[in-house]
Amino acid sequence: MTTIPTQLPTQLQSVRARVAAACQSAGRAASEVTLLAVSKTVEPEVVSQAFDAGQTAFGENYIQEAVQKIIELRHLALEWHCIGPIQSNKTRLVAEYFDWVQTLDRLKIAQRLSEQRPAGLPPLQVCIQVNVDGGTRKSGVLPGEVLALAQRVAALPNLCLRGIMCIPEPASDFVAACALFARVKAVFDALNAAGLALDTLSMGMSADLEAAILSGSTMVRVGSAIFGARPPFKPMPAQ
Ligand SMILES: *Cc1c(COP(=O)(O)O)cnc(C)c1O
Repeated sequence: MTTIPTQLPTQLQSVRARVAAACQSAGRAASEVTLLAVSKTVEPEVVSQAFDAGQTAFGENYIQEAVQKIIELRHLALEWHCIGPIQSNKTRLVAEYFDWVQTLDRLKIAQRLSEQRPAGLPPLQVCIQVNVDGGTRKSGVLPGEVLALAQRVAALPNLCLRGIMCIPEPASDFVAACALFARVKAVFDALNAAGLALDTLSMGMSADLEAAILSGSTMVRVGSAIFGARPPFKPMPAQ
């Protein structure tokens, strides 16, 4: 038996309050920012409890773990976002089970996802992951290469390009975080100025959602502030 953390509804409520307060100080409507609950390593029972508390969008990093959870929770009207790295041999599972993919960074993967998206389902909603830190080992597309990839992805029949996302290294302070997020916002604005109609700028996590919202984020991805600290035994896969 899994013990369900009784503080979950309270934590969810307090994250919603943080989002609302950040929107207010940024002069934005609270409805402009979607809260994605990052449920990696979280048991299905707990996801179900978050749903009972009004949360419908969930993000997962590990495809295998996610697919089991998605199947187990099929009776609930949940929206699932893939926010982890995708290897070519996992694209079929992702195309079949997820509603969104936020970590697109290669045309090859985009083409496979489009080809493998089952006929009866709506197009897969996708974001391109942008590497704003510029580190060569990190996943994500460099800012100068996003437009070319975005135009090709937008032309694929079974994908719907919604925007961009980023996972920067944690910044040293609020001002540094805002400066980094502002660079991602500039990439987002440039894509729209080039004629792509994008509505999703996915940036901000538990520690820096205020800076992200102030900088124009439309989706924050929050794990530990909702579900508590994750167990250390499940390391991030090598990138
Ligand atoms: C784990 C994860 C998050 C959530 O991080 P927290 O600090 O727990 O809020 C957000 N985005 C991605 C891509 C993640 O892997």
